[in-house]
Amino acid sequence: MENKLDITCPICHFHTTSPSVNDLGSVHGNTERFKHQSFQLWKCPQCNTIKSLANVDFADIYSDYPLNKRELDVFARGTLKNLTSRLTAVGMNKHHTILDYGCGNGIYVDYLKEAGYSNTYGYDPYVSEFKNLPNDTAPFDVIINNDTLEHVPDVYAMMGECLALLKPGGLLYIGTADSEPVNMQALDKEIMRLHQPFHTIIVTEQQLHRIVKRYPLDIIASYRRSYHDTLRPFANYRFLDELNNILGHNLDKALDPNTSTKAFLTHPKLWFYAFFGYFFPSAAEPAVIAKKKTD
Ligand SMILES: [Zn+2]
Repeated sequence: MENKLDITCPICHFHTTSPSVNDLGSVHGNTERFKHQSFQLWKCPQCNTIKSLANVDFADIYSDYPLNKRELDVFARGTLKNLTSRLTAVGMNKHHTILDYGCGNGIYVDYLKEAGYSNTYGYDPYVSEFKNLPNDTAPFDVIINNDTLEHVPDVYAMMGECLALLKPGGLLYIGTADSEPVNMQALDKEIMRLHQPFHTIIVTEQQLHRIVKRYPLDIIASYRRSYHDTLRPFANYRFLDELNNILGHNLDKALDPNTSTKAFLTHPKLWFYAFFGYFFPSAAEPAVIAKKKTD
């Protein structure tokens, strides 16, 4: 069967006008606003990148983005502590100038400042408080690009922008969703990581490394597991997945303390995953930390 589509892979530039039906699939959104809307996705047969075929107005979809209502609560603190420890392990310190690129509502900026990283800045073109790149402070010692790559229309433009803002010898963290085990014929169970229409592109761990290696960067640390995965109770990816599943994969409900508390009372297995979910991961989130070359 032939599909009248003209698709170019945004990562490897593979082009097709007749994609195989096996490479196409569709899934509903996982937010209150988009839960009844179906979005078509395509998996590149050459590099396994998943591309959303939805034509979205970014300013519009982010105007009421539920994750921007997330608070710096005990759950967020657990995972952000883990993210921070990845960076301190490779030398990030409290004197560094730090940019959280794609910072959303800035909870990680707040977290870092609270922890003594006072020269921390945020950038997010769709959040008014952070809509301007802090160019006056550039170049930065550390740029954190956590869960950003999958949201942008042009990964290479974003990489170029980050590189220009980073000091030689500076650290760049990039962590993102994983396209690897996704079966395009069974997308419903992947609804959380596909996160339509917000995720424009989902790459494999291998492609993430290839993207980074195109730039004057040396990879100094690499992770496959999600930074959400910790041994701290409630701070693991499987628990988030199970909670969202119980709430019909509606992020607005998962972020509402009233509905999520009810889920705990009616679904005892949630407690199990809250404490032991680390040992039962449901998805990976590849990440690398790279150092910008000095010459
Ligand atoms: Zn490709």
